[in-house]
Amino acid sequence: MTETTAAPTASATSETVEEFALRARTWLAENLPGIDRRNPPSADRGEIEPWLRARELQKKLYDGGFAGICFPREYGGLGLPIAYQRAFDEESRDYEMPLILNTPTFTICAATILDTGSEEQKRERISAAIRGEEVLVQLLSEPSGGSDLASVITRADRRGDRWVINGAKTWSTSAFAADYGLLLARTNWDVPKHEGLTMFLVKLDSPGIDMRRIKQVNGSEEFCEEFFDGLEVGDDAVVGEVNDGWNVASRQLYHERRAVGGGSEFASGIGAEGKSDQPIDYVEFVEEIGQSDNERIREMAGRALVVRAVHEQLIDHVYHGVLEGTLPPAAGSIIRISHAENVQFEMDVTLAMTGAAGVVDDGSGLFRIGNRYLARQAASLGGGTTEIARNIIGERVLGFPREHAADRGVPFNQVKRRRD
Ligand SMILES: Cc1cc2nc3c(=O)[nH]c(=O)nc-3n(C[C@H](O)[C@H](O)[C@H](O)COP(=O)(O)OP(=O)(O)OC[C@H]3O[C@@H](n4cnc5c(N)ncnc54)[C@H](O)[C@@H]3O)c2cc1C
Repeated sequence: MTETTAAPTASATSETVEEFALRARTWLAENLPGIDRRNPPSADRGEIEPWLRARELQKKLYDGGFAGICFPREYGGLGLPIAYQRAFDEESRDYEMPLILNTPTFTICAATILDTGSEEQKRERISAAIRGEEVLVQLLSEPSGGSDLASVITRADRRGDRWVINGAKTWSTSAFAADYGLLLARTNWDVPKHEGLTMFLVKLDSPGIDMRRIKQVNGSEEFCEEFFDGLEVGDDAVVGEVNDGWNVASRQLYHERRAVGGGSEFASGIGAEGKSDQPIDYVEFVEEIGQSDNERIREMAGRALVVRAVHEQLIDHVYHGVLEGTLPPAAGSIIRISHAENVQFEMDVTLAMTGAAGVVDDGSGLFRIGNRYLARQAASLGGGTTEIARNIIGERVLGFPREHAADRGVPFNQVKRRRD
């Protein structure tokens, strides 16, 4: 596997970071709508409109020469080091940006294709995404379980010169708004689980895919499930090598951990994706609920701010530790856990502060806090669960013995598993 995702170090331009930032500042002011950062436009990922808007904005960035800053030039990017991306992020802070395209399209899927895809996949898919023409998603988890990813049972069978895919995937974030998905399937059942997998890049409107929306308890329909019934693809859909899909998936998970921790050079723009994701401004919030003088509430807000500050410091510490080699890449899982704890602490604290108005819609607008709380567990599930992150830290950061696995080294077709 060629690893090409490290951001370029040699500048592909004679322009300094400062000159680039200045040019970006002028272009942004002339071309992108400004936003009130405390009240950004809605970006409900379960609706189609924010996706159409994001594509439009991405096209503008591309036309203006500010898209794909750290992606190589031959795949539609600018081939610049991360310092240019960070400078652009700062400049774009107060403008409407296509933030929902960052993850998974750029930070996970395009980054994985860049590392492991064929030349054609890189030229076509990465550049189409950078031009704002395509959205990419991940098709990994299955109804039978997501944590033990190497146990997927969606199958791809060779028929002549084609692959025929049958099975099901679930929890695919935003797949309804996407064009292509990275799908992990089993291509050899006679070898241990990690050795018989292949990653495919599938077009989501192909015949043989039945996609359905999943309605969550909070009303969002962001997640999808897909049923594959005789979906046919050619060899050009294989990402990496046949039966080497675990390496591709591992790379994907690596990029996912970096993305969740905010450490990907392929993300463009700063901040939350929409109102519901904005970090709470506690001073404003405590005033809104009329509790500015309540010592107990102020103490709760203080604690939440401390937890947030520790999390931000930790991101920095781990990011640089991995970069400098004092921590192994698996340490990204530390950020993953801290992220979940921070998000959940904030949700608990704000609901406690809001009281009954958070669970009964009394017209005060505070019901949004209770509604947000309904998605509390998402932070400790998405991108691999907190328990799995703890296992990774134990085994790959602290060097504890590996967890017992009854299926290690056993051909997959001899492994005992639940039959759905
Ligand atoms: C916000 C969000 C976005 C997501 N986006 C996508 C996406 O785009 N594409 C996609 O394919 N999937 C996506 N997922 C699915 C996600 O990857 C899975 O939910 C996750 O991997 C866990 O799988 P599972 O839900 O099947 O739980 P299971 O794997 O069935 O696990 C159930 C419980 O058992 C625990 N457990 C399992 N194995 C172990 C072990 N070895 N040690 C200790 N505890 C264990 C788990 O931690 C969990 O608590 C998303 C999920 C969320 C919440």
